[in-house]
Amino acid sequence: MPDTIIPRLDLRGQHLSLRELKAALPRAEFDVEAAVDAVRPIVADVAERGAAALYDAAERFDGIRPGRLRVPAEVIADALTTLDPAVRAALEESIRRARVVHADQRRSDTTTQVADGGTVTERWVPVDRVGLYVPGGLAVYPSSVVMNVVPAQLAQVPSLAVASPPQRDHGGWPHPTILAACALLEVDEVWAMGGAQAVAAFAYGIEDDGEVCDPVSLVTGPGNIYVAAAKRLLKGIVGIDAEAGPTEIAVLADDSADADHVASDLISQAEHDPLAAAVLVTDSPDLVDAVEAALARRVASTKHTERVATALAGRQSAIVLVDDVEAALALVNAYAAEHLEIQTRDAASVAARVRNAGAVFVGPWSPVSLGDYAAGSNHVLPTGGCACHSSGLSVQSFLRGIHVVTYSSQALREVGGHVVTLARAEDLPAHGEAVLARHPELDPSA
Ligand code: NAD
Repeated sequence: MPDTIIPRLDLRGQHLSLRELKAALPRAEFDVEAAVDAVRPIVADVAERGAAALYDAAERFDGIRPGRLRVPAEVIADALTTLDPAVRAALEESIRRARVVHADQRRSDTTTQVADGGTVTERWVPVDRVGLYVPGGLAVYPSSVVMNVVPAQLAQVPSLAVASPPQRDHGGWPHPTILAACALLEVDEVWAMGGAQAVAAFAYGIEDDGEVCDPVSLVTGPGNIYVAAAKRLLKGIVGIDAEAGPTEIAVLADDSADADHVASDLISQAEHDPLAAAVLVTDSPDLVDAVEAALARRVASTKHTERVATALAGRQSAIVLVDDVEAALALVNAYAAEHLEIQTRDAASVAARVRNAGAVFVGPWSPVSLGDYAAGSNHVLPTGGCACHSSGLSVQSFLRGIHVVTYSSQALREVGGHVVTLARAEDLPAHGEAVLARHPELDPSA
């Protein structure tokens, strides 16, 4: 285990500009940009050799060569039959709550009457086909099946495919609990493929053993740094939701917070990945000492001690001491964490001032792990600072707004002169001529 439980950073008495603050923030040494170089050859191999590249990558990274890539229907059905009833009940409740929240996200089409005879309608249309990534490396994530599939189904995406890494202990199929979650949600297209190679297979399409995985329009879902890097590399060839990479938790706390709760929440996210980030920001030196002591106690007894200890001791994790809650808010807004907990007095009003975060968990009874499984919110959230420009997965992620423009002859005539003028001002006169072809009487030089 590393010597230091978690690095300390004392920013008291420093009045940092946003640029200085961003430079001081804890960030991982091995970032998504570095991982892009690692996945480039994997992605190129899938583009060139298709399914053969997937089998080789599975052997290399997952330690098993699957019998075939598409999971047969009977294997998916069997997984549900043999699912532990308690896990089934928990998944069903998670699905129910996610459906309630995500159903409220659906937007209806809007039509705006711009002028007599002139309307612009915004139609929300689902993408034709999505590839949903469900992680399965260090841990397996049936919860991510729920978080991907529920909004995609509510958006009425006509074609859904799930990919998850082949498991050595399960005959090269994805983990049975992942397959059971697919069965509960009536998803029948599931592929045994993981990592960057799965994202590439979704982007380019593959054929294996008579089964075709058609290229998708959009890839969504969380994953480790290699999955996030593949999304960055393939963005443009395929749409992506956001870079939902190694998880992050930031806790903004004052001296009213319970140190043991804070420590257990930091560990709960650190157990995802040695690259996971756990950051406490506080103005209370007493809380710093108490959380460090609680971390030392809990890290030693938690199941994934090594992984947690590595994540906490990494450059991406820290306890940051600041002057006051105001300075803490400036810091968490600059950091833009995937998950942000507010454990202060009057937590709701502090939370209302958060501008950058994937999801905010308010007060002592809303730990991040609730949101991971059963709050109803989505757990596929932007990481690596992307929360300052991107949102978590939602129904909206699967829809595109299409503007539908309908003008009558008279409505075009009314505004046509302005179109001709602006077209000439931009030195694009053919634009104006398209209007004049319909209404020659508008030609100012005629
Ligand atoms: P994973 O499925 O994301 O990754 C496993 C795959 O990584 C393997 O199949 C392999 O192909 C690839 N891989 C492993 N080592 C590699 C290497 N050296 N080079 C190239 N590829 C390699 O599963 P995981 O590893 O358990 O990671 C899950 C991740 O998902 C964690 O980081 C977790 O924090 C994250 N997560 C994020 C969110 C979010 O919304 N941001 C939500 C849930 C989970």
